[in-house]
Amino acid sequence: MTKAMYVHVPFCDHICAYCDFTRCGYYKPLVDQWLHAMIKELHDKALSPCKSVYIGGGTPSTLNEEQLESLLTALLPYTKHAVEYTMEVNAESLSEAKIALLVQYGVNRISMGAQSFQPHHLKKIERVADYAMIKQRIAQLRFHDITNISLDFMYGLPDQTMSEWVEDLHRAVALPITHLSLYALTIEEHSRFGRAQIQPCDADLEADFYETAIKLLEENGFEHYEISNFARDQRFSEHNLAYWHYDDFYGIGCGASGKENHIRYDNTRNLHTYIQNGPCPDKTLLSVKDEMFEMMMMGLRIKKGVSDVVFHQRFACSYHDVFDTAIQKHCASGNLLESNHRLYASKQGMMLLHEILVDFL
Ligand code: SF4
Repeated sequence: MTKAMYVHVPFCDHICAYCDFTRCGYYKPLVDQWLHAMIKELHDKALSPCKSVYIGGGTPSTLNEEQLESLLTALLPYTKHAVEYTMEVNAESLSEAKIALLVQYGVNRISMGAQSFQPHHLKKIERVADYAMIKQRIAQLRFHDITNISLDFMYGLPDQTMSEWVEDLHRAVALPITHLSLYALTIEEHSRFGRAQIQPCDADLEADFYETAIKLLEENGFEHYEISNFARDQRFSEHNLAYWHYDDFYGIGCGASGKENHIRYDNTRNLHTYIQNGPCPDKTLLSVKDEMFEMMMMGLRIKKGVSDVVFHQRFACSYHDVFDTAIQKHCASGNLLESNHRLYASKQGMMLLHEILVDFL
């Protein structure tokens, strides 16, 4: 049974300088048309209720209250038994009234974009919400009993210094949040940064930012449970764990991807196509070889690694039968470790995962 659902809301209040996701500026009539098409997509698919539902984007909190309520109502048949129901928000578009709606419809986890607490970096990356606003929204969410709150940060921003990064992390861990996701800035060709030919951060400095963050967050009670993700009190992202466990998941909406019954699909990224013709998914039939590799690729991202028992249940063989040469090589070098029928990356291996995975291809 598919247990996870991702819903993509491709609208934002404004466009950040580094972004090339599937998104466009908020325009009410267009959002209404998108909602209509999205509800039709839901009706046309025979979906079952999910254990986790994640509304991402874009910026879902951009929707006005009426639109947000329509979206949450359409999703009710699939969310009513959800253990985790997350919505991505930006602090500036989240109001008390919207928080009340989220609570009413069972949303119990918020993922909020922060990216930086330094005003000059926020200005450069063209983001609105500052530290004070984010702190205030967290307090409002907690007042309404939404206590499972994740913040996103970026490192390797143009001219970012280590002391600024450390200051941001100290401020983040002092907030009553449960989860942090950290991403290195990548310069996407079609983003404003890409067009302005902004240069990426030096690779050594980027690695220093990452290692500093791991140490600081672990010292402050955050478990580094996935390459880019940290949780307090074991409040891991259940939804993302479905990806890392290589489970099936539904992808709903313009620009969403999903995986069901050995088929990966990518819905059209063209909003007008989506509104007129529906998701028009581009489908890929995954071979057993693809799936074995992808299960290793996803599972080695998490601290717990890949279970050989689960691998055997799926493929009727051990990962040693398929990847033994690569496993032996990287266990010998200390990049990978194995115990209790689980293969996982060491701290050093986590940093080298891309190179390690080449040997699994
Ligand atoms: S980074 Fe997020 S909020 Fe900014 S434009 Fe992209 S999708 Fe929208």
